[in-house]
Parts: sequence; C-alpha cells; structure tokens
Amino acid sequence: MTLELTTVKSLRETVAAWRAGGELVALVPTMGALHAGHLELVKVAQMKAKRVIVSIFVNPTQFGPNEDFKSYPRTLERDLRLLCEAGVDAAWLPTLKEMYPQGFSTSVKAGSAGAGLDGDSRPGHFDGVATVVTKLLVQAMPDVALFGQKDYQQLCVIRQLVRDLNIPVFIVGVPTVREVDGLALSSRNQYLTVAEREVAPKLYDILKTLASKLVIPAQAGMTDEARVRDEGDSRLRGNDGLLKKAVDEILKAGFVKVDYLELRAEDTLAPLQSYVKPSRLLVAAWLGKTRLIDNITVE
Ligand code: AMP
Repeated sequence: MTLELTTVKSLRETVAAWRAGGELVALVPTMGALHAGHLELVKVAQMKAKRVIVSIFVNPTQFGPNEDFKSYPRTLERDLRLLCEAGVDAAWLPTLKEMYPQGFSTSVKAGSAGAGLDGDSRPGHFDGVATVVTKLLVQAMPDVALFGQKDYQQLCVIRQLVRDLNIPVFIVGVPTVREVDGLALSSRNQYLTVAEREVAPKLYDILKTLASKLVIPAQAGMTDEARVRDEGDSRLRGNDGLLKKAVDEILKAGFVKVDYLELRAEDTLAPLQSYVKPSRLLVAAWLGKTRLIDNITVE
C-alpha cells in the first residue's frame, strides 16, 4: 500500500519512523502524469534505498505566464495506482497552500548551470525549480534523490544547488527512457497530434547523427579557439556549420521553431569556449504547440 501524505508534518513523521528503524530513504520528485520514465526513476530508487517517496506537485513557479500550467495533464488517480503497483512506500501530495502558504516570499536562485539554454527560453524556470526542489529536499530530508537526464540542465542545476547549499543528499541522474522509435518519454507528448507524433522521433535521430559528426577538443581544458590557433585545425570551426545544418534539418522535418541546439560541457554545462570532453548536445524545439527537449552525450 502506498501512503498518501498531504502535510509536511505527516511526511516528516513518516520519514522519522523509517529513519528510527535505520532505513535509507529516496525521493523521486515529479509533476505527475506518470509514464515509464518516472517509473524507471522509481526502480532505480528502490535499488538505492529501502523506502521510496514519490512527490507529485505541479509547481506553478516554474511555469512562465504564457506556459501550460493550467493545461498540464493531471491524472492523480491513475498515478496513485501506478505508484501502488510499483511498490512505492509513500506519495507526497502537497497542496498549493501547503507548499506556498500565505505570505511565502523566499526563493532560491538557480546557479550558473541554469544560464542559457532553457534558462534563456524560459526565464525564471530554473529559479522555480531550484526553489521547489530545495523545499522538497528539506521537507523529506531523503538520503538519495533521483532526477532524469531527460531534463539534463535541470539535473545540473540541482547538482549545483545541493553542492552550493550543502544539502546532505546524494543526487542520482537516471538515463532517458525512450519510446521504441527513440522519442524521449514526456508527459507533454500527450499534446502531440497523430501527425506530429510521427515527426517527433526525428529530433533524436538528428541529434544522434550530429553527435557522431562533431569534433571535441582532444585535451581537457583546451578551448576550441586555442586548438584552432595552435593546430590550425579548421575542423572545430566546422562544428558551427554542422550545428546550423542540423537546425535546418529539424525545421525541414516539420518542427516550427528551434529554441536552441548547443554543445556544452557535460558536467558544468559551461558554453563552448571552455568545454571539455565529454560534452553534451542539448536541443529544444517546437512541434506545433508542443515544446520538446532532448539531449545526448558526445563521447
Ligand atoms: P516531470 O514530472 O516531467 O517533472 O519529471 C519528473 C522527473 O522524471 C524528472 O527528474 C525528469 O527528468 C524525469 N523524467 C521525465 N521524463 C523522463 C524520461 N523519459 N526518462 C527518464 N527520466 C524522465
């Protein structure tokens, strides 16, 4: 049976009882509308800790004024059934008022990992994420918290947050779960029309092909400028051309807009000038009214 907890008090009492019995606790934060990607986080959590809590909270502060907060899929009954079947110990279901009571006015500002990419396309998004994740971690005080690599920049923001604020929790990044055709599972995939759903996997196809062609500086810490200068290597400059060509391919496939397609340092997400091997290729693109994100490592 999965406990359904709606107050911080009941969450703390539950966790305290587990702790008293010497049990490790894992937290999987979600916004609900659960799919196999979320359930993979649960599976990994169960390997890391005796007790697993899944939080479901559609956090308004991480949505922009023109984003889909209101229409975001909410399927609580089904979610709870899936969590029960998966053997999750507790569902943490804070109300809006429990999370942001009257007078709430503190926020956590995301660090440098939140600069650029989604940080530019969705102003304020990562501050909203940093604030709610800090609250969730302090509320549950888990030993381990799990996040998907699907939201790679978010994972980097959270790793940095936990390090910077000395929050005593181990962060685990779980590889992206995909449909058989390569589309990364996402609660927002439900927005896609049948025709768009056919186009959607092309984003990952294009990423994979691009990743196999990109040239990464051979020496860690060497800037691509230095490499081009020192070795007269024109191949790195060719990366820009490959990235532009890939943007054109994404548009040609049927996407209406590409917010970004960028190569960044895998751990810090530092931009091109200081990237090291391996790097991460990250993309956000609009298919009709749906914004899809994906990313891939570049070895
Ligand atoms: P969300 O409910 O979309 O906020 O996601 C909750 C957690 O599940 C986040 O850590 C996501 O990165 C993770 N997640 C979402 N989709 C996937 C996926 N396809 N594979 C792995 N993790 C995912």
